Amino acid sequence: MTHDAVVVGSGPNGLVAAVLLAQTGRRVLLLEAAGRFGGGLRSEELTLPGRVHDVGATVMAMALASPAFRDGLGGLAEVEFAHPPVAAAHPLDDRPAVLVHRDAGRTAEGLGRDAAVWRATVGAAARAGFPLVDLLLKPLGPWPADPRAFAAAARFATAAALPATTLGRRAFRTVEGRAVLAGMAAHSMLDLRAPITSGYGLLLAALAHLVGWPLAKGGSQAMADALVARFRALGGEAVTGHQVRSLKELDAPTIVLDVTPRQFLAMAELPPRYRRRLERFRYGPGVFKLDWALDGPVPWRDPAVAAAGTVHLGGTLEEIALSEAEMASGRHSPRPYVLLVQPYAADPTRGGHTLWAYCHVPNGSTVDMTGAIETQIERFAPGFRDRVLARHAMGPADLEAFDSNLVGGDIGGGLASLGQFVRRPVWSPSPWRTPLPGVFLCSASTPPGAAVHGMGGWQAARLAVRG
Ligand SMILES: Cc1cc2nc3c(=O)[nH]c(=O)nc-3n(C[C@H](O)[C@H](O)[C@H](O)COP(=O)(O)OP(=O)(O)OC[C@H]3O[C@@H](n4cnc5c(N)ncnc54)[C@H](O)[C@@H]3O)c2cc1C
Repeated sequence: MTHDAVVVGSGPNGLVAAVLLAQTGRRVLLLEAAGRFGGGLRSEELTLPGRVHDVGATVMAMALASPAFRDGLGGLAEVEFAHPPVAAAHPLDDRPAVLVHRDAGRTAEGLGRDAAVWRATVGAAARAGFPLVDLLLKPLGPWPADPRAFAAAARFATAAALPATTLGRRAFRTVEGRAVLAGMAAHSMLDLRAPITSGYGLLLAALAHLVGWPLAKGGSQAMADALVARFRALGGEAVTGHQVRSLKELDAPTIVLDVTPRQFLAMAELPPRYRRRLERFRYGPGVFKLDWALDGPVPWRDPAVAAAGTVHLGGTLEEIALSEAEMASGRHSPRPYVLLVQPYAADPTRGGHTLWAYCHVPNGSTVDMTGAIETQIERFAPGFRDRVLARHAMGPADLEAFDSNLVGGDIGGGLASLGQFVRRPVWSPSPWRTPLPGVFLCSASTPPGAAVHGMGGWQAARLAVRG
């Protein structure tokens, strides 16, 4: 036995686990199936030579807020984060776009009659700060000693527990306020009539005020490269192009798997009861993603949108709720909610104007959504298509071929419903632990779920070290 621990998969969760285990002096081997490290942090020249595109994550709000990265773990201090002048924008057909600024007060002012409710919900969550974030990113503990964190969480939960459609219609009075809430909540990839969809929206908006919605300069790959460099500096051995098919291939007392339940089921002999519980795990919808190389910025009808890193397209709360409800019931919306990122608003080092956008589709969909996505962009930016030099499309099957954790195109590692927020992938006080001694799961299919926060890796490594 030459290693004390093997980590399978180098997404942000696998990388955090690998670094933390190596920090304890263990001899750690990191095995990655793809040709590059990073999983959802990979950047590639998807369109034209020299154009850097993030294949997965770009907006690093969760990373900056996460206890796994905040405390200087993993050498992320080497990575430069660039903030767009405006965190997010939500264009509307017949009126100015809603702008979400770093400053909560300035954002609230732009919401007119909804200023007070923005301050009381999003603003209050941002003011509660890291203690609240820590509770949400560590829903099963270890919990902070400060009782004020629990009081803030209880206040947050009152609104967060509601479906976004309910909170939007009950608490917000303006078209703008309702629309911006819906655009934020739709990141959850859930039907907006489902519980806790408000929670996703309120948290993401609060993070815009707390830490901003920045990008890693040069592409998200810079974060993966920094974590791998840190891991190697600690003596870790990291290998690409090595897909683990069976746990029998691995010879180490500790094994940490950055994989989802379906892959785990295929690679391990598991006790029947645990196997059945994993088989019940539900994947979420897929996405259809487009990357473009442009010859200039997107010609937004409202020029203020140009300053935003992220843009939510789809119009009013009613329209976005309808599009997400159609997707959740297995259909393809002709006017989908589109989540768009324009990295050049913050980072001029990506070889020119690159852009990406995706819409949600039923899991495993084979429908080409290029026309529907570009029509939504044209709706708010007439003349957009004339700026396109090259485009690259990825449907669910392409995404899964890129990273096998994206099952059926699900970029969240499993449905983000209330039930699967903590029953992830099984109901347990420590779901990162499996019934196999020394074997841990750490992917986004464990709490707290999707996004670049590394907390699955943090939890799995913590348990592995404790033994
Ligand atoms: C298009 C897209 C946009 C996104 N946008 C954002 C965003 O802006 N902000 C944000 O915070 N999050 C975003 N996300 C989500 C985020 O990227 C993921 O939640 C995060 O990467 C999950 O990390 P992970 O470590 O669990 O898994 P992954 O990042 O999926 O990594 C898993 C790794 O394990 C490897 N692997 C799997 N099986 C094996 C095996 N058997 N052997 C060896 N290696 C294996 C895979 O190749 C992959 O490299 C986005 C995701 C996508 C796809």
